[in-house]
Amino acid sequence: MMATMLGNEVHGDTSTRAGLYVHVPFCSSICPYCDFSVTLAGEPRRAQWERSLLDEAAMYAGHGLEFDTVYFGGGTPSALKIDRLARVVNGLTQRLQIHSDARFFIEVNPEDVKPESTRAWRSLGFSSVSVGVQALDDPALEFLGRRHTADQARRSVTDLLGAGFDNVSLDLIFGLPGQTRSGWSGQLREAARLGAHHLSCYQLTIHRGTIFGKRKEAGLMGEMGEWPQAELYRLIHEVLGTAGFEGYEVSNFALPGHRSAHNMKYWTGVPYLGLGPGAHSFDGAAKRWWNRRKVRLWQRDIERGCCPVEGEETLTERQRALETLMLGLRTADGVDLASLEKRFLVDVIRSNAVTISDLEAEGLISRRGDLIAPTPAGMAVADALVRAILIEEVEPEPVPVIVPDVRG
Ligand code: SF4
Repeated sequence: MMATMLGNEVHGDTSTRAGLYVHVPFCSSICPYCDFSVTLAGEPRRAQWERSLLDEAAMYAGHGLEFDTVYFGGGTPSALKIDRLARVVNGLTQRLQIHSDARFFIEVNPEDVKPESTRAWRSLGFSSVSVGVQALDDPALEFLGRRHTADQARRSVTDLLGAGFDNVSLDLIFGLPGQTRSGWSGQLREAARLGAHHLSCYQLTIHRGTIFGKRKEAGLMGEMGEWPQAELYRLIHEVLGTAGFEGYEVSNFALPGHRSAHNMKYWTGVPYLGLGPGAHSFDGAAKRWWNRRKVRLWQRDIERGCCPVEGEETLTERQRALETLMLGLRTADGVDLASLEKRFLVDVIRSNAVTISDLEAEGLISRRGDLIAPTPAGMAVADALVRAILIEEVEPEPVPVIVPDVRG
């Protein structure tokens, strides 16, 4: 894709500051379930990534918004040497408009949490940290191919809390073959007891092309059935709800005041810019684009002075309405159908009156006026909720033609 993609701009009014995502594609080992854009490459390739990433940032200099969240995800950002991470943070700040109060987020793996790295992350301005704990149970960690133990994970959380991060989030995976209700609820209770402010709980998905995918194709591995998965999901709301967490998005649970300010942008139509291989961007209006996934191709484009964009799409009004509905039905804040109709010239309320009443009667959504929001049971089937609700385009009212009266 050539440099014409630089026509992509991030829009928005000044009250809507954008989010910046930086994809760090390096990991110390590849987990058998992972289908992200990652590589085991060592320092020479990391140095090339650093140069390319800053060159990519420079392509967007002067293109739009001020960012008030900056999220380093991956891959494993904590696998970067501190001096490299510092150069990237400073380089981004020089090339892009990053607000002085911007919140910086970093994803870390438990085995990288050491007193010196923790201090360095804090001094670079990271205040929120997301720890790839995945399980607080050694056999589960072994099954997932992780390099840390449950004890290491516990210690990393305690150390990060002690270092003064004001939002410590844990990633956990559920739905492992043979996982029991009591085992899973025990892990959730422990995660809350450790003092985490935020938990992201993801269902194990087996993707084609991954090691797990190949094992599944060879009949060596199965996935947990839909109903046991749903039961484990229900437990998350039950256990974390009791511990004071709000399930504010299908996979995300936070103590009051600890929702992820960066991820909320993805769910509420705020613009975001993604840098690095495979990163996605949204202009805050109708246009989305995404980078080449393969690190080498992404880098080659940048070295040739081209924008490393692999594809883009411009959503129609109806698609934007559908997307707003879909994202809204994944969050506890829900979606206001009246403003959806007004904004995108669609009909939802009248044509779905029966469906909405049925979904409410089944306990899958709650309704306040024209605002509908999924209940925990509804969040478990968020995709089905979206499929159930139809969006009809409305013909705009003809504009009356006023013929001037020229008599007398
Ligand atoms: S550490 Fe995370 S990003 Fe890296 S391979 Fe494992 S799951 Fe994928």
